[in-house]
Amino acid sequence: MTSLNKTDVFLLKWLNKQKDIVYQNDIPKLTGIDAKTVSKSLYKLEKLGLIIREQTVHNKRKTYIVKIDFEKAAKQLEEIGETLFEPRDLFEQIADIPCLSCQNINKCYEGGFYDPVYCPLIFDYLFGASMREKYPMSKITAKK
Ligand code: SF4
Repeated sequence: MTSLNKTDVFLLKWLNKQKDIVYQNDIPKLTGIDAKTVSKSLYKLEKLGLIIREQTVHNKRKTYIVKIDFEKAAKQLEEIGETLFEPRDLFEQIADIPCLSCQNINKCYEGGFYDPVYCPLIFDYLFGASMREKYPMSKITAKK
């Protein structure tokens, strides 16, 4: 089996953290890794089935949208003693959950006045505030 080098591991971890669409031609600028090394590594990761690349045009240039195959990448990294998530990343993800700092957490339940189903803070956390205009659904204003 082809082994993963430091760049491969770094790119898998980096891709896993990205929330927006990742275009291959943006990766060198965003990671500080030169374009040739990025291209070589992504080609290898694609051949191993750890990422998926879809051809597209971005900023008038042909490139790829790059997506990680989470399950395969996690399994592959586990085999070499690595993990997709650093403990600090996990903490940051948990620390962002709005309920942890919400003063209404003890009064919040499904069907209650404070209801996670209609909570704008949870909605924004999961889908982004911009989606709220598209799907207006908040009946409460949860306070932090
Ligand atoms: S009101 Fe929203 S943020 Fe607060 S505990 Fe309920 S779901 Fe979480």
